[in-house]
Amino acid sequence: MNMLFNYYLDKNSIDSWVKDFSSAAQKVIMYSFKGTNGRLLTNFYNKYKKFKEVEGIPRNKWPVSSKTSQELHKQYTAPMKASRLFYEENGIFRQTAKGKVYEKFLSEELNEDERWLLSYIFLLDATFDNKDNYILSRSNEIYEILVSNTSESFVDSALSELFTNKNLGISDKDIAFYDFLYLDTFYRDPDFLKLYYNASEKDKKELQKYVSENLEEKNRNCVICKKFISPSRSSGNYTVNELIDDLKILMFSKEFKKLKYNDFEGTIKAILKLYDNYDIDNEKILGFLIDNKNIFEPILMNVFKVEDIDDSEEDTEEEKYDSQVINVDINYSGDKPEPRIDDTTIVGKQQLRAIFAMRKKIAREKSNYTCELEMLNGCRYFTSKTTKHNYIEVHHFVPREFRNNFENSIDVLANYITLCPHCHRMIHLATDRERVNIIRYIYNQRKNRLKNCGIEVEFADLLNFYNIEDES
Ligand SMILES: [Zn+2]
Ligand SMILES: [Zn+2]
Repeated sequence: MNMLFNYYLDKNSIDSWVKDFSSAAQKVIMYSFKGTNGRLLTNFYNKYKKFKEVEGIPRNKWPVSSKTSQELHKQYTAPMKASRLFYEENGIFRQTAKGKVYEKFLSEELNEDERWLLSYIFLLDATFDNKDNYILSRSNEIYEILVSNTSESFVDSALSELFTNKNLGISDKDIAFYDFLYLDTFYRDPDFLKLYYNASEKDKKELQKYVSENLEEKNRNCVICKKFISPSRSSGNYTVNELIDDLKILMFSKEFKKLKYNDFEGTIKAILKLYDNYDIDNEKILGFLIDNKNIFEPILMNVFKVEDIDDSEEDTEEEKYDSQVINVDINYSGDKPEPRIDDTTIVGKQQLRAIFAMRKKIAREKSNYTCELEMLNGCRYFTSKTTKHNYIEVHHFVPREFRNNFENSIDVLANYITLCPHCHRMIHLATDRERVNIIRYIYNQRKNRLKNCGIEVEFADLLNFYNIEDES
Protein backbone atom coordinates (compact mmCIF):
# COMPACT_ATOMS: atom_id res chain seq x y z
CA MET A 1 0.00 0.00 0.00
CA ASN A 2 1.31 3.43 -0.91
CA MET A 3 0.78 5.39 2.31
CA LEU A 4 2.05 8.64 0.84
CA PHE A 5 -0.27 8.50 -2.13
CA ASN A 6 -3.23 7.49 0.01
CA TYR A 7 -2.56 10.30 2.44
CA TYR A 8 -2.50 12.78 -0.43
CA LEU A 9 -5.74 11.46 -1.94
CA ASP A 10 -7.51 11.33 1.43
CA LYS A 11 -6.54 14.88 2.32
CA ASN A 12 -7.66 16.13 -1.07
CA SER A 13 -11.21 15.35 -0.07
CA ILE A 14 -11.01 17.59 3.00
CA ASP A 15 -12.02 21.12 2.04
CA SER A 16 -10.21 22.93 4.83
CA TRP A 17 -6.96 21.13 4.07
CA VAL A 18 -7.22 21.90 0.37
CA LYS A 19 -7.90 25.53 1.15
CA ASP A 20 -4.97 25.74 3.56
CA PHE A 21 -2.48 24.41 1.07
CA SER A 22 -3.71 25.85 -2.20
CA SER A 23 -5.01 29.33 -1.62
CA ALA A 24 -2.88 32.34 -2.41
CA ALA A 25 -3.31 33.60 1.16
CA GLN A 26 -0.23 34.66 3.06
CA LYS A 27 0.04 31.55 5.16
CA VAL A 28 0.48 29.17 2.28
CA ILE A 29 3.51 30.96 0.90
CA MET A 30 6.91 30.59 2.47
CA TYR A 31 7.90 34.27 2.59
CA SER A 32 5.24 36.77 3.54
CA PHE A 33 7.07 39.89 2.33
CA LYS A 34 5.71 39.02 -1.05
CA GLY A 35 2.22 40.10 -0.12
CA THR A 36 -0.29 40.09 -2.89
CA ASN A 37 1.28 42.19 -5.63
CA GLY A 38 4.29 40.58 -7.19
CA ARG A 39 5.36 37.76 -4.95
CA LEU A 40 8.84 37.37 -6.37
CA LEU A 41 11.65 38.90 -4.38
CA THR A 42 12.75 40.71 -7.54
CA ASN A 43 9.26 42.11 -8.05
CA PHE A 44 9.35 44.01 -4.81
CA TYR A 45 10.22 47.05 -6.89
CA ASN A 46 6.66 47.12 -8.26
CA LYS A 47 5.44 48.01 -4.80
CA TYR A 48 8.20 50.55 -4.42
CA LYS A 49 7.38 52.25 -7.72
CA LYS A 50 3.70 52.36 -6.93
CA PHE A 51 4.34 53.83 -3.51
CA LYS A 52 6.76 56.44 -4.86
CA GLU A 53 3.71 58.19 -6.36
CA VAL A 54 2.65 59.46 -2.93
CA GLU A 55 6.05 60.49 -1.63
CA GLY A 56 5.84 63.88 0.06
CA ILE A 57 2.04 64.00 -0.17
CA PRO A 58 0.20 64.23 3.18
CA ARG A 59 -1.91 61.12 3.75
CA ASN A 60 -5.17 63.06 3.78
CA LYS A 61 -4.49 64.01 0.16
CA TRP A 62 -3.75 60.49 -1.04
CA PRO A 63 -6.02 59.19 -3.80
CA VAL A 64 -8.76 56.88 -2.59
CA SER A 65 -10.68 54.14 -4.30
CA SER A 66 -14.06 55.34 -5.50
CA LYS A 67 -15.61 52.01 -4.55
CA THR A 68 -14.29 51.48 -1.04
CA SER A 69 -13.05 55.00 -0.12
CA GLN A 70 -9.85 53.27 1.01
CA GLU A 71 -6.46 54.86 0.37
CA LEU A 72 -5.08 53.19 -2.75
CA HIS A 73 -1.53 53.18 -1.41
CA LYS A 74 -2.33 52.00 2.07
CA GLN A 75 -1.41 48.40 1.32
CA TYR A 76 2.17 49.46 0.59
CA THR A 77 2.83 51.53 3.70
CA ALA A 78 3.80 48.61 5.96
CA PRO A 79 6.20 46.91 3.51
CA MET A 80 7.78 50.25 2.57
CA LYS A 81 8.47 51.08 6.21
CA ALA A 82 9.55 47.53 6.95
CA SER A 83 12.05 47.60 4.10
CA ARG A 84 13.38 50.98 5.27
CA LEU A 85 12.99 52.42 1.79
CA PHE A 86 10.65 55.08 3.20
CA TYR A 87 10.09 56.64 6.58
CA GLU A 88 7.00 58.38 7.84
CA GLU A 89 6.91 61.71 9.58
CA ASN A 90 3.68 63.51 10.46
CA GLY A 91 1.74 61.45 7.95
CA ILE A 92 4.17 62.21 5.13
CA PHE A 93 6.34 59.52 3.63
CA ARG A 94 9.82 60.25 2.33
CA GLN A 95 12.49 58.10 0.81
CA THR A 96 15.32 57.17 3.14
CA ALA A 97 18.92 57.30 1.95
CA LYS A 98 18.48 53.60 1.28
CA GLY A 99 15.36 54.34 -0.78
CA LYS A 100 17.34 56.74 -2.95
CA VAL A 101 19.99 54.11 -3.64
CA TYR A 102 17.24 51.60 -4.37
CA GLU A 103 15.86 53.98 -6.98
CA LYS A 104 19.33 54.22 -8.51
CA PHE A 105 19.57 50.42 -8.53
CA LEU A 106 16.36 50.19 -10.55
CA SER A 107 17.85 52.29 -13.31
CA GLU A 108 21.04 50.19 -13.57
CA GLU A 109 21.38 47.79 -16.45
CA LEU A 110 21.47 44.40 -14.80
CA ASN A 111 20.70 40.85 -15.77
CA GLU A 112 18.24 38.72 -13.83
CA ASP A 113 20.79 37.16 -11.46
CA GLU A 114 22.41 40.50 -10.70
CA ARG A 115 19.05 42.07 -9.98
CA TRP A 116 18.13 39.14 -7.74
CA LEU A 117 21.30 39.36 -5.66
CA LEU A 118 20.99 43.11 -5.11
CA SER A 119 17.27 42.83 -4.28
CA TYR A 120 18.17 40.19 -1.75
CA ILE A 121 20.83 42.36 -0.08
CA PHE A 122 18.58 45.45 -0.06
CA LEU A 123 15.85 43.57 1.79
CA LEU A 124 18.05 41.56 4.16
CA ASP A 125 17.63 43.90 7.13
CA ALA A 126 13.90 44.45 6.63
CA THR A 127 11.45 43.81 9.46
CA PHE A 128 8.70 41.93 7.67
CA ASP A 129 6.10 39.93 9.57
CA ASN A 130 7.37 41.59 12.78
CA LYS A 131 10.66 39.79 12.49
CA ASP A 132 13.88 41.77 12.33
CA ASN A 133 16.23 40.60 9.58
CA TYR A 134 13.23 38.73 8.24
CA ILE A 135 14.75 36.92 5.28
CA LEU A 136 17.46 35.15 7.25
CA SER A 137 15.38 34.47 10.33
CA ARG A 138 12.47 33.14 8.28
CA SER A 139 14.76 30.98 6.13
CA ASN A 140 16.29 29.57 9.24
CA GLU A 141 12.86 28.78 10.66
CA ILE A 142 11.71 27.03 7.46
CA TYR A 143 14.95 25.11 7.09
CA GLU A 144 14.65 23.86 10.69
CA ILE A 145 11.08 22.68 10.11
CA LEU A 146 12.03 20.84 6.94
CA VAL A 147 15.11 19.21 8.47
CA SER A 148 13.37 18.17 11.67
CA ASN A 149 10.73 16.28 9.68
CA THR A 150 13.12 14.81 7.13
CA SER A 151 16.89 15.09 7.25
CA GLU A 152 19.54 17.65 6.45
CA SER A 153 20.97 15.69 3.55
CA PHE A 154 17.50 15.20 2.07
CA VAL A 155 16.67 18.92 2.23
CA ASP A 156 20.05 19.90 0.84
CA SER A 157 19.76 17.53 -2.08
CA ALA A 158 16.19 18.69 -2.80
CA LEU A 159 17.46 22.26 -2.92
CA SER A 160 20.44 21.59 -5.14
CA GLU A 161 18.57 19.19 -7.45
CA LEU A 162 16.16 21.89 -8.57
CA PHE A 163 18.72 24.68 -8.35
CA THR A 164 21.06 22.93 -10.76
CA ASN A 165 18.22 22.65 -13.25
CA LYS A 166 16.71 26.08 -12.76
CA ASN A 167 18.00 27.42 -16.05
CA LEU A 168 16.47 24.69 -18.12
CA GLY A 169 13.09 26.39 -18.08
CA ILE A 170 11.06 23.84 -16.19
CA SER A 171 7.47 23.40 -17.28
CA ASP A 172 4.58 23.08 -14.86
CA LYS A 173 4.20 19.37 -15.39
CA ASP A 174 7.92 18.63 -14.95
CA ILE A 175 8.12 20.47 -11.67
CA ALA A 176 6.12 17.59 -10.19
CA PHE A 177 9.23 15.40 -10.30
CA TYR A 178 11.27 17.63 -7.99
CA ASP A 179 11.23 17.00 -4.23
CA PHE A 180 11.38 20.72 -3.54
CA LEU A 181 7.85 21.22 -4.87
CA TYR A 182 6.56 19.01 -2.04
CA LEU A 183 8.75 20.63 0.61
CA ASP A 184 7.64 24.09 -0.47
CA THR A 185 3.95 23.23 -0.63
CA PHE A 186 3.72 21.19 2.57
CA TYR A 187 6.29 22.74 4.88
CA ARG A 188 3.42 23.30 7.33
CA ASP A 189 2.25 19.69 7.27
CA PRO A 190 4.70 17.57 9.29
CA ASP A 191 2.73 14.39 8.60
CA PHE A 192 3.08 14.84 4.87
CA LEU A 193 6.77 15.67 5.17
CA LYS A 194 7.49 12.55 7.19
CA LEU A 195 5.55 10.31 4.81
CA TYR A 196 7.25 11.83 1.81
CA TYR A 197 10.69 11.42 3.35
CA ASN A 198 10.10 7.80 4.30
CA ALA A 199 8.39 6.77 1.07
CA SER A 200 10.14 4.41 -1.34
CA GLU A 201 11.24 5.78 -4.70
CA LYS A 202 8.49 3.79 -6.36
CA ASP A 203 5.81 5.25 -4.08
CA LYS A 204 7.10 8.77 -4.55
CA LYS A 205 7.09 8.31 -8.32
CA GLU A 206 3.44 7.26 -8.22
CA LEU A 207 2.48 10.49 -6.48
CA GLN A 208 4.71 12.60 -8.73
CA LYS A 209 3.26 11.07 -11.86
CA TYR A 210 -0.25 11.70 -10.61
CA VAL A 211 0.54 15.34 -9.81
CA SER A 212 2.29 15.83 -13.14
CA GLU A 213 -0.67 14.54 -15.13
CA ASN A 214 -3.02 16.73 -13.14
CA LEU A 215 -0.84 19.76 -13.73
CA GLU A 216 -1.01 19.10 -17.43
CA GLU A 217 -4.78 18.72 -17.34
CA LYS A 218 -5.20 21.56 -14.82
CA ASN A 219 -7.22 19.31 -12.58
CA ARG A 220 -8.55 21.41 -9.73
CA ASN A 221 -9.23 18.39 -7.55
CA CYS A 222 -5.53 18.00 -6.86
CA VAL A 223 -4.28 20.46 -4.25
CA ILE A 224 -0.90 21.17 -5.84
CA CYS A 225 -2.52 21.89 -9.21
CA LYS A 226 -5.06 24.08 -7.57
CA LYS A 227 -2.23 26.12 -6.10
CA PHE A 228 -0.68 26.58 -9.54
CA ILE A 229 -3.75 27.34 -11.61
CA SER A 230 -3.54 30.92 -12.85
CA PRO A 231 -5.65 33.71 -11.31
CA SER A 232 -7.79 33.94 -14.43
CA ARG A 233 -8.98 30.48 -13.52
CA SER A 234 -10.02 31.88 -10.15
CA SER A 235 -7.91 29.79 -7.83
CA GLY A 236 -4.31 29.71 -6.62
CA ASN A 237 -1.84 31.74 -8.60
CA TYR A 238 1.50 30.31 -7.68
CA THR A 239 4.07 29.94 -10.43
CA VAL A 240 7.16 27.86 -11.07
CA ASN A 241 9.20 31.08 -10.97
CA GLU A 242 7.92 31.79 -7.50
CA LEU A 243 8.81 28.31 -6.40
CA ILE A 244 12.33 28.83 -7.70
CA ASP A 245 12.47 32.18 -5.95
CA ASP A 246 11.64 30.43 -2.66
CA LEU A 247 14.35 27.91 -3.44
CA LYS A 248 16.96 30.57 -4.12
CA ILE A 249 16.14 32.54 -0.97
CA LEU A 250 16.30 29.40 1.14
CA MET A 251 19.45 28.10 -0.43
CA PHE A 252 21.32 31.40 -0.46
CA SER A 253 20.28 32.23 3.12
CA LYS A 254 21.57 28.92 4.36
CA GLU A 255 25.03 29.74 3.02
CA PHE A 256 24.77 33.37 4.06
CA LYS A 257 24.26 32.41 7.69
CA LYS A 258 27.64 30.72 7.76
CA LEU A 259 29.44 33.98 7.01
CA LYS A 260 31.02 36.19 9.64
CA TYR A 261 31.30 39.95 9.41
CA ASN A 262 34.87 41.06 8.84
CA ASP A 263 35.33 44.48 7.34
CA PHE A 264 32.82 45.78 4.79
CA GLU A 265 34.76 44.89 1.67
CA GLY A 266 35.84 41.49 2.96
CA THR A 267 32.24 40.65 3.76
CA ILE A 268 30.79 41.64 0.41
CA LYS A 269 33.54 39.70 -1.36
CA ALA A 270 32.57 36.65 0.67
CA ILE A 271 28.92 37.19 -0.32
CA LEU A 272 29.83 37.42 -3.99
CA LYS A 273 31.78 34.20 -3.64
CA LEU A 274 28.59 32.44 -2.53
CA TYR A 275 27.11 33.65 -5.77
CA ASP A 276 29.82 32.11 -7.91
CA ASN A 277 27.49 29.84 -9.87
CA TYR A 278 25.24 32.68 -10.91
CA ASP A 279 25.59 34.78 -13.99
CA ILE A 280 26.95 38.00 -12.55
CA ASP A 281 29.58 40.56 -13.39
CA ASN A 282 31.57 40.58 -10.14
CA GLU A 283 33.36 43.85 -10.83
CA LYS A 284 30.15 45.68 -11.61
CA ILE A 285 28.25 44.45 -8.54
CA LEU A 286 31.21 44.96 -6.24
CA GLY A 287 31.54 48.49 -7.63
CA PHE A 288 27.88 49.26 -6.97
CA LEU A 289 28.08 47.96 -3.40
CA ILE A 290 31.27 49.88 -2.63
CA ASP A 291 30.00 53.09 -4.23
CA ASN A 292 27.00 52.88 -1.94
CA LYS A 293 28.82 51.68 1.17
CA ASN A 294 26.95 54.40 3.03
CA ILE A 295 23.80 52.26 3.06
CA PHE A 296 25.08 48.73 2.44
CA GLU A 297 27.41 48.81 5.42
CA PRO A 298 24.55 49.55 7.88
CA ILE A 299 22.48 46.79 6.25
CA LEU A 300 25.21 44.23 6.84
CA MET A 301 25.90 45.54 10.32
CA ASN A 302 22.23 45.08 11.18
CA VAL A 303 22.15 41.58 9.72
CA PHE A 304 25.31 40.45 11.46
CA LYS A 305 24.38 42.39 14.59
CA VAL A 306 27.74 44.10 14.62
CA GLU A 307 26.21 47.03 16.45
CA ASP A 308 22.83 46.89 17.99
CA ILE A 309 21.23 50.13 16.91
CA ASP A 310 17.82 48.64 17.40
CA ASP A 311 18.24 49.18 21.09
CA SER A 312 17.28 45.60 21.55
CA GLU A 313 15.99 44.05 24.73
CA GLU A 314 18.93 41.69 24.88
CA ASP A 315 21.13 44.48 26.06
CA THR A 316 20.40 45.37 29.64
CA GLU A 317 23.72 46.88 30.61
CA GLU A 318 23.03 50.46 31.51
CA GLU A 319 26.78 51.13 31.48
CA LYS A 320 26.94 50.53 27.77
CA TYR A 321 24.28 53.12 27.07
CA ASP A 322 25.35 55.73 29.55
CA SER A 323 28.92 55.70 28.34
CA GLN A 324 27.78 56.24 24.78
CA VAL A 325 25.71 59.34 25.39
CA ILE A 326 26.89 62.11 23.14
CA ASN A 327 25.41 65.54 22.71
CA VAL A 328 22.06 65.44 21.03
CA ASP A 329 20.20 68.67 20.75
CA ILE A 330 16.71 67.51 21.54
CA ASN A 331 14.13 68.51 24.07
CA TYR A 332 13.23 65.50 26.19
CA SER A 333 10.86 67.13 28.61
CA GLY A 334 7.73 65.30 27.47
CA ASP A 335 6.54 62.29 25.54
CA LYS A 336 6.79 63.93 22.14
CA PRO A 337 8.81 61.90 19.66
CA GLU A 338 11.93 63.49 18.23
CA PRO A 339 12.08 64.25 14.51
CA ARG A 340 12.52 61.04 12.59
CA ILE A 341 16.09 59.98 12.04
CA ASP A 342 16.99 58.25 8.81
CA ASP A 343 18.80 55.27 10.25
CA THR A 344 19.77 53.74 6.91
CA THR A 345 23.13 55.53 6.96
CA ILE A 346 26.11 55.23 9.31
CA VAL A 347 25.64 58.79 10.56
CA GLY A 348 21.94 58.15 11.14
CA LYS A 349 22.76 55.00 13.08
CA GLN A 350 25.11 56.93 15.38
CA GLN A 351 22.55 59.65 16.00
CA LEU A 352 19.88 57.11 16.73
CA ARG A 353 22.04 55.20 19.17
CA ALA A 354 22.82 58.42 21.01
CA ILE A 355 19.14 59.30 21.19
CA PHE A 356 18.23 55.86 22.54
CA ALA A 357 20.89 56.17 25.19
CA MET A 358 19.73 59.64 26.15
CA ARG A 359 16.10 58.60 26.32
CA LYS A 360 16.90 55.65 28.58
CA LYS A 361 18.94 57.84 30.84
CA ILE A 362 16.06 60.28 31.18
CA ALA A 363 13.60 57.44 31.81
CA ARG A 364 15.79 56.28 34.70
CA GLU A 365 16.12 59.77 36.13
CA LYS A 366 12.39 60.45 35.90
CA SER A 367 11.62 57.21 37.74
CA ASN A 368 14.00 58.32 40.46
CA TYR A 369 15.82 55.03 39.83
CA THR A 370 12.92 52.90 40.98
CA CYS A 371 11.04 50.00 39.43
CA GLU A 372 7.64 50.66 37.90
CA LEU A 373 6.30 47.53 39.62
CA GLU A 374 7.27 48.42 43.20
CA MET A 375 3.63 48.47 44.30
CA LEU A 376 3.13 45.00 42.94
CA ASN A 377 6.29 43.06 43.52
CA GLY A 378 8.31 44.38 46.44
CA CYS A 379 11.46 44.94 44.41
CA ARG A 380 15.02 44.62 45.62
CA TYR A 381 17.75 46.95 44.45
CA PHE A 382 21.49 47.14 44.41
CA THR A 383 23.66 50.14 43.63
CA SER A 384 25.18 50.39 40.19
CA LYS A 385 28.94 50.73 40.24
CA THR A 386 28.77 53.22 37.36
CA THR A 387 25.87 55.49 38.22
CA LYS A 388 25.89 55.09 42.02
CA HIS A 389 22.09 54.84 41.79
CA ASN A 390 19.84 51.78 41.90
CA TYR A 391 20.61 49.48 38.99
CA ILE A 392 17.59 49.87 36.69
CA GLU A 393 16.81 48.38 33.29
CA VAL A 394 14.58 49.91 30.64
CA HIS A 395 11.90 47.90 28.88
CA HIS A 396 9.91 48.83 25.76
CA PHE A 397 6.32 48.27 26.73
CA VAL A 398 5.14 48.00 23.11
CA PRO A 399 8.00 45.84 21.85
CA ARG A 400 10.03 47.43 19.07
CA GLU A 401 9.53 44.58 16.62
CA PHE A 402 5.91 45.76 16.35
CA ARG A 403 6.88 49.37 15.56
CA ASN A 404 5.66 49.05 11.98
CA ASN A 405 2.14 48.27 13.23
CA PHE A 406 1.79 51.88 14.33
CA GLU A 407 1.47 55.03 12.33
CA ASN A 408 3.28 57.09 14.96
CA SER A 409 6.66 56.43 16.49
CA ILE A 410 6.67 54.12 19.51
CA ASP A 411 10.10 55.45 20.49
CA VAL A 412 8.74 57.83 23.07
CA LEU A 413 9.32 58.07 26.82
CA ALA A 414 5.73 56.96 27.44
CA ASN A 415 6.70 53.56 26.06
CA TYR A 416 9.81 53.20 28.25
CA ILE A 417 9.29 51.30 31.47
CA THR A 418 11.96 51.27 34.17
CA LEU A 419 12.26 47.90 35.88
CA CYS A 420 14.49 46.24 38.43
CA PRO A 421 16.32 43.17 37.03
CA HIS A 422 13.90 40.81 38.78
CA CYS A 423 10.79 42.41 37.28
CA HIS A 424 12.40 42.72 33.87
CA ARG A 425 13.11 39.00 33.77
CA MET A 426 9.60 38.38 34.96
CA ILE A 427 7.88 40.31 32.17
CA HIS A 428 9.86 38.31 29.61
CA LEU A 429 10.16 34.89 31.19
CA ALA A 430 7.39 34.26 33.75
CA THR A 431 4.31 32.13 33.16
CA ASP A 432 1.52 33.76 31.18
CA ARG A 433 -0.61 34.05 34.31
CA GLU A 434 2.06 36.12 36.08
CA ARG A 435 2.87 38.18 33.01
CA VAL A 436 -0.77 39.10 32.34
CA ASN A 437 -0.97 40.74 35.77
CA ILE A 438 2.11 42.84 35.19
CA ILE A 439 1.10 43.83 31.69
CA ARG A 440 -2.38 44.83 32.79
CA TYR A 441 -0.96 46.89 35.63
CA ILE A 442 1.44 48.77 33.34
CA TYR A 443 -1.25 49.14 30.69
CA ASN A 444 -3.57 50.89 33.12
CA GLN A 445 -0.75 53.18 34.21
CA ARG A 446 0.33 54.06 30.69
CA LYS A 447 -2.58 53.81 28.29
CA ASN A 448 -3.48 57.51 28.44
CA ARG A 449 0.09 58.67 28.04
CA LEU A 450 0.49 56.33 25.07
CA LYS A 451 -2.76 57.58 23.57
CA ASN A 452 -1.53 61.16 23.88
CA CYS A 453 1.46 60.11 21.78
CA GLY A 454 -0.84 58.76 19.10
CA ILE A 455 -0.18 55.16 20.10
CA GLU A 456 -3.58 53.53 20.38
CA VAL A 457 -3.18 50.04 21.70
CA GLU A 458 -5.82 47.66 23.02
CA PHE A 459 -5.09 45.30 25.87
CA ALA A 460 -5.78 42.36 23.56
CA ASP A 461 -3.12 43.65 21.12
CA LEU A 462 -0.61 43.71 23.92
CA LEU A 463 -1.38 40.12 24.86
CA ASN A 464 -0.67 39.24 21.24
CA PHE A 465 2.58 41.17 21.24
CA TYR A 466 3.63 39.28 24.36
CA ASN A 467 2.58 35.99 22.86
CA ILE A 468 -0.02 35.33 25.52
CA GLU A 469 -2.82 33.16 24.20
CA ASP A 470 -5.36 33.22 26.94
CA GLU A 471 -6.00 36.00 29.38
CA SER A 472 -7.08 33.78 32.27
ZN1 LIG B 1 12.40 44.03 28.22
ZN1 LIG C 1 10.75 45.48 40.25
